[in-house]
Amino acid sequence: FTGKTGFELLSEKLKEVKVRDFQSIPIVIKENDSVYDAISKMFLEDVGTLFVVDDQSLLTGVVSRKDLLRASLGNQELTSLPVHIIMTRMPNVTICRKDDYLIGAAKQLINKQIDGLPVVEDTEKGLQVIGRITKTNMTKALVEFTSNDNLQGG
Ligand code: ADP
Repeated sequence: FTGKTGFELLSEKLKEVKVRDFQSIPIVIKENDSVYDAISKMFLEDVGTLFVVDDQSLLTGVVSRKDLLRASLGNQELTSLPVHIIMTRMPNVTICRKDDYLIGAAKQLINKQIDGLPVVEDTEKGLQVIGRITKTNMTKALVEFTSNDNLQGG
């Protein structure tokens, strides 16, 4: 017995967890797809954030629910409005990598007041989207780390 409290053990374990341990599959859309397509995809895929990619599948931006709502409030033709017009674009997109600590990604979500981050991999051409980390993943981590199994070392 180490003499550490459950809380200390939990905290130590939590600090070791990486993004790759909790990341989900990314849902992407092409930058020339329409806002209408983005809304459809968001419903079909049941996600709150879509990552926008170019023809080479490289990350160029992010569209959130509110971005799409805002675009829908204008008198615009949503089927002919490309998502790249309304997205938050690189280099303003906050990203993470699979070997980053999950707690670091959580801090980014709080600091930037956003719901999710793309998990990217660096390639010669640019950033490839390989996953996503959202508040839902953080909630899952919280639940998983409250089960006693995780406090028994390993
Ligand atoms: P919502 O807009 O649905 O509340 P968010 O809080 O995630 O969802 O998004 C708020 C704003 O931040 C939006 O304009 C969105 O484009 C932008 N955003 C979302 N995710 C990111 C990110 N990873 N990096 C930079 N900006 C982002």
